[in-house]
Amino acid sequence: MSTYLVFSPHLDDAVLSCGAQIAVWTELGHHVVIATVFSEGNEAHSTQYARRRADDENAVRALNAVPVHLGFTDAPFRNAHYHNFSTLLLHETLPPDSLETAAAVGLRMHALAQEVQADALYFPLAAGGHVDHLVVFEASKRCWADSIPVNYYQDLPYALVPGWAAMRWQQHGASMEYALKMDMHPTRLQDLSLAFLKNYMEDDADLQASETQHAAQVSKLSLAAAGALTWKISHHTFNRRRVCVATTYLQQKINAIRYYATEWPVLFGPAEQDIENTLRTNVNDYTEIYWTLNR
Ligand SMILES: [Zn+2]
Repeated sequence: MSTYLVFSPHLDDAVLSCGAQIAVWTELGHHVVIATVFSEGNEAHSTQYARRRADDENAVRALNAVPVHLGFTDAPFRNAHYHNFSTLLLHETLPPDSLETAAAVGLRMHALAQEVQADALYFPLAAGGHVDHLVVFEASKRCWADSIPVNYYQDLPYALVPGWAAMRWQQHGASMEYALKMDMHPTRLQDLSLAFLKNYMEDDADLQASETQHAAQVSKLSLAAAGALTWKISHHTFNRRRVCVATTYLQQKINAIRYYATEWPVLFGPAEQDIENTLRTNVNDYTEIYWTLNR
């Protein structure tokens, strides 16, 4: 039996991104701990965050995993600057005001990995450039020198935006090693039918600012990057791994997602069927994509 430790920036990311893989692990009898880093708001939002933590406990337990809440403060309550789509997401690099948080998060995550005697660690790739996801990625580097296997998951639903996962590797400073030929068609955010893009936008000004930032990032993206199988950051290589499972595990993931009562309609749309319609890509199986650090 192994212990898998999955780090989630917010109260939902690990289940959204790795829910099917987690369902497979726990069915096989492995121990899975899901540690949410930014699990606190401020005093005015304490009731809201208490409810969200309760929702997370239900979602994580639905997958037979164990929830842990690390108690760091969510971005909008650390700095009021982070209040809408264009300020929270689309960061190319970690903003300097979050360096101190990243150092503290790194210490805590490293200690938890020792505490639970983890056999493998999972972190967000930070596709989409959410400042909190970037903090967790930056903090995860502390574990690169250890012997515990390190993996990254593609953040869902952000990674559904064409090019966002490849863009993230480039923005992490990675160079492409091997790639399959693949076509990618980056588009304007407002032309994509992904509910979170609309629902996270505050107003027209936020939409325009987001489109401008997005277009600038797309212009720097190499189109071959969409088919990359291996990325390299200095002497560390990261290999793409597709986890393809029967749709029964997708159903378990959807059942868990439904516990995030206030989050899922914003992310996927008002109808429960919208969750499946957004996530499902194949009829008979379901795929999640991970990147494994090859030391
Ligand atoms: Zn998140």
